[in-house]
Amino acid sequence: MSNRTFTMIKPDAFRKGHSGAILDQILKAGYQIKAMKMMKLSAEKAGEFYAVHKERPFYGELVEFMSSGPIVAAILEKDNAVEDFRKLIGATDPAKAEEGTIRKQFAASVGENAIHGSDSDANALIEGSFMFSGLEQF
Ligand code: GDP
Repeated sequence: MSNRTFTMIKPDAFRKGHSGAILDQILKAGYQIKAMKMMKLSAEKAGEFYAVHKERPFYGELVEFMSSGPIVAAILEKDNAVEDFRKLIGATDPAKAEEGTIRKQFAASVGENAIHGSDSDANALIEGSFMFSGLEQF
C-alpha cells in the first residue's frame, strides 16, 4: 500500500475560483502536500498525460479542456492515499458522485469534473513524476 497520490485541480475549477476551497478540503482530509505547482498544460502535454484514453471518443475534448487554462498539480501523502482520495473526490460523473465529495460540490459535468485523482499506486507514481522533477518533490 502506497501513501502517495497525484492530483490536479482542473481548468474548470481553477477558472471558477474553487482552488482554495478544494485544497482546504484536501488538507482537512489529512493529506500533506509533497509537491505543488500552478501550470498550464500544452495540448501535447495533456495528450501525453491522458494517452491511455487515446481511442476513446472524448479524447479530443479532454485534451482541449485540460489545456484550456491553468491547473494546480500536486503530490499528496497520507495512509491509503490513492483509495481514500478517490472517495474524497467522488465518481467521474458528478451527477453520480456522493454528497459531500469534491466533484459533487464543484464539478459541472463528466468532462469538466473539477479534479483528477490517480486510480492506482503505480499510476500515482507515473503521474507524479510526469509533472514534477525529483527536485520538486519533498
Ligand atoms: P477518472 O479516473 O474519474 O478521472 O475517470 P476516467 O479515467 O474514466 O476519465 C479521465 C477523464 O476523462 C475524466 O476525469 C474526465 O475529465 C474525462 N472524461 C471521462 N468520460 C468522459 C466523457 O464521457 N466525456 C468527456 N468529455 N470527458 C470524459
